[in-house]
Amino acid sequence: MAKIRKKIKTVRIKADLCNGCRACEVICSAYHASPRYSSINPARSRIRIIRYPLQDIWVPVFAGEYAFAECMGRDKYVIDGKEYEECAFCRAVCPSRDVFKEPDSGLPLRCDMCEGEDTPLCVQHCLNQVLIMEEREEDVEEQEYPEDLEVGVDSLADKYGMDRLLEVIARKSMKS
Ligand code: SF4
Ligand code: SF4
Repeated sequence: MAKIRKKIKTVRIKADLCNGCRACEVICSAYHASPRYSSINPARSRIRIIRYPLQDIWVPVFAGEYAFAECMGRDKYVIDGKEYEECAFCRAVCPSRDVFKEPDSGLPLRCDMCEGEDTPLCVQHCLNQVLIMEEREEDVEEQEYPEDLEVGVDSLADKYGMDRLLEVIARKSMKS
């Protein structure tokens, strides 16, 4: 497969500096609202803070790829003697939990690094410098990633079945 030179943006997470203020969740949900900044709902954020308030633990996790099925194994992390829930740090949008799903429709939410912005909004609004953007250039294999629309259709077809989905689309298109 042909290789192309690509600018890769990553966010380094200094989790020990996070105080759980959730400003990153607020700004992400506002930025991705339609119209932009018309609403705030952290349940729609593409970054979520794993919270263990009684232990003063806050860990930011970014939404990753959509997974059709839950994975076969589970990981349990014990860090500094503190045990974390299974799947706590997993980025996948998976059928076994509600995190990283649009709350009304159940459609998957994925971090798009605030496409079009030089610096992602969550990075800009984290006052504790927990989220640090880094950029590098890499030779990567040319790959096609599914568009958001395609991922959304796949997840709805998964949930309701393709026949039902087509039936609803046909009914809606008759009305418009
Ligand atoms: S804005 Fe920064 S400090 Fe606040 S919850 Fe998010 S990552 Fe943590
Ligand atoms: S980079 Fe942008 S899309 Fe990703 S979590 Fe941060 S604000 Fe949300």
